[in-house]
Amino acid sequence: MTVSARNDSPAPPQVLLTHHLRQLKLPTFLREYDKVAAEAAREGLDHPRYLLRLAELELIDRERRMVERRIRAAHFPAVKSFDTFDFTAIPSLNKPLVLELARCEYAVARENIIALGNSGTGKTHASLAFGLAACQRGFSVIFITAAALVHQLMEARDERRLLKLQAQLTTVKLLIIDELGYVPLSQTGAELLFEIFSQRHERGSTIVNSNLPFEEWTTVFGSQRLTGALLDRLTHHVHILELNGESYRLKQSAARRKRGQRPSDEAAKPIDGEIDPAN
Ligand code: ADP
Ligand code: MG
Repeated sequence: MTVSARNDSPAPPQVLLTHHLRQLKLPTFLREYDKVAAEAAREGLDHPRYLLRLAELELIDRERRMVERRIRAAHFPAVKSFDTFDFTAIPSLNKPLVLELARCEYAVARENIIALGNSGTGKTHASLAFGLAACQRGFSVIFITAAALVHQLMEARDERRLLKLQAQLTTVKLLIIDELGYVPLSQTGAELLFEIFSQRHERGSTIVNSNLPFEEWTTVFGSQRLTGALLDRLTHHVHILELNGESYRLKQSAARRKRGQRPSDEAAKPIDGEIDPAN
């Protein structure tokens, strides 16, 4: 029995169009087609140009949605960029190199970055900015502290899903490991972390932040042999950033004190909405 035989009026084209555009996953087409049609009529655009404008809007929106998805998947503790990074506060940092790296060529070449420096000098901030730039340029990113990463690896091993987690950590284009050095690792923890570096070698980029100079990395990994093998892989293709100087946090609170503000006015508040790991 056909629809017309039942004497129902056919669905208006808008209803079907809405359904089809949803099915095709073209939300911007759906949202904008009426508005752009009015624009096209006003400007005397022909059909190809009308469709082209809609297709361009859909592409721009799709790219934005993908960047947002990558940022969510990266699990950044805060979203920070180099726009809010004051290079004059840390003269030891090679600014031209940082700006060059922010263009993400290192991620294409699967090179690594190691940022070394004492606490509060902007290592986490800079690596969050590299992570954000990578998300914007289409790379998948995971941001995690060394302690949390080792914890996750040990837990996955106990629950017999280590291979799956290792596969995930090996395929991500950029892995950012923050705060290597604050906590010494158990032998198993050190070995599991070593395996990740080893599996990622020349497959993807890794950024490591540490408060310890290389000579002291054995205190984290325990064994000299393991540390040597790890540094060998990690530093094969590497850009080293030196952030040595006064803590930015301390400097800021000193400046506030000088201005006569009580510490409770601002100092207790995380800057930029940062989730501040105790370091
Ligand atoms: P680290 O990871 O080296 O201990 P952070 O990146 O966590 O240091 O920096 C501490 C705080 O100071 C953060 O809120 C960070 O955004 C801010 N900060 C550090 N260095 C700078 C800088 N050069 N310009 C702007 N903000 C900075
Ligand atoms: Mg930090």
